[in-house]
Amino acid sequence: MATYGGIDLGGTKIQAIVMRGEDRTVLGQARTLTPREGGPPAVVDALVACLSEAAASAGVDIARLDGVGVGVPGEVDAVAGTLAKATNLSEWEQPYALAAALSERLAAKVRLGNDVSVATHAEQLLGAGHGAKSLLGVFWGTGVGGGVALEGKLWHGRGDAGEIGHMVVKQGGARCPCGRKGCMEAYAGRRAMEREARRLHEKGHDTDLFEIMRDRGRQTLSSGVWAKALAREDKLAERLIERAVQALGTGVASAVNLLDVELVLLGGGLGTRFGEPMLARIGAAMSPHLYNDSHPPAMRMAALGDLGGALGAALLWAEAESR
Ligand SMILES: [Zn+2]
Repeated sequence: MATYGGIDLGGTKIQAIVMRGEDRTVLGQARTLTPREGGPPAVVDALVACLSEAAASAGVDIARLDGVGVGVPGEVDAVAGTLAKATNLSEWEQPYALAAALSERLAAKVRLGNDVSVATHAEQLLGAGHGAKSLLGVFWGTGVGGGVALEGKLWHGRGDAGEIGHMVVKQGGARCPCGRKGCMEAYAGRRAMEREARRLHEKGHDTDLFEIMRDRGRQTLSSGVWAKALAREDKLAERLIERAVQALGTGVASAVNLLDVELVLLGGGLGTRFGEPMLARIGAAMSPHLYNDSHPPAMRMAALGDLGGALGAALLWAEAESR
């Protein structure tokens, strides 16, 4: 029986699974918060601890895994096993040999893949994208990631395709965590939304967001904090979410105008938390920007939820070895 480890390294959370290769069953899983300081060494420690916990819950000896896949945010060189420019991780600008560092600690072969590409692939194979020939995965979380499949295959471009969060929705607009201006993520990414909420709060705008955050013992405005604020009809939260929805509608519709995919999938921490009602709002926000608005793409929630990224990462091995 082949068993594989899969890890989804997000800007907020790390999710690890152990998967049986034959039928892609998840045997065990674990989750932890991504270290907010300490750079790559701290993240490596957290990844090892999280996968160890997943292996323990699966009753699998971690040293016997047939391969470990990691979905990572930023610039991946899959051949060299390096990750660079992970702007949502602590001190992670320069290329870091993550695959080698993990391989040494885990005594297993390690492969890296772009987090959103692997999650899109998992949805296409095992989730809500099953059967679709062309789809666009939109992962709305700390940042906004995108994955594109055309003619049934993931489209990587020259390596950087799918960066839907950095579609420009407003020329000269808000500063994006990537350093540029007017990107969709500058309005819709959780990190950018938090920065704007803090700025407005400090200017005297009334909001419960930070009180809810403290009550929940969180250090950031997590998706749960936003959801709670919306449930309380917090005006500032509503305003910032509406701004995010409009940016998502504009950017996703522009991508659809270019690619004419049959299906748009919504996932990510915020996307999964808000679910169907928000999917409908994003669809409505897309409508005025769609070139052929009488023939919009199908819109669906990603079906694998929080596990999609980790499953896709494990598939980096399971797929390759079943060929
Ligand atoms: Zn950007």
